[in-house]
Amino acid sequence: MSEGEVKGKVLPISKPCVGVAGKTGSWRVMRPAYDDSKCIKCRLCWLYCPENAIDLNEEGGPFIKIDYDYCKGCGICASVCPKNAITMVPEG
Ligand code: SF4
Ligand code: SF4
Repeated sequence: MSEGEVKGKVLPISKPCVGVAGKTGSWRVMRPAYDDSKCIKCRLCWLYCPENAIDLNEEGGPFIKIDYDYCKGCGICASVCPKNAITMVPEG
């Protein structure tokens, strides 16, 4: 890893897990929809997601994976994305 490079595995935040309220993604009324063709792999969505519900995929294929079991639909990822690769759409 070169100097200054951000590596997905080092985020010092615990992963979401099932709590007393169950899988909290059920609270969501809007969901983030991701368009990989617009993504420039800047990692801002991953950095700012308050639920740590975004995983990075460095192995090829879609660059981000959203964990809809825990994403609460806050829209922060869509707001910070510089390429509008994430848009919020009504749930269901
Ligand atoms: S909508 Fe909010 S909780 Fe869901 S992935 Fe985006 S930033 Fe995370
Ligand atoms: S913020 Fe947008 S461009 Fe950056 S990694 Fe996330 S989806 Fe891709």
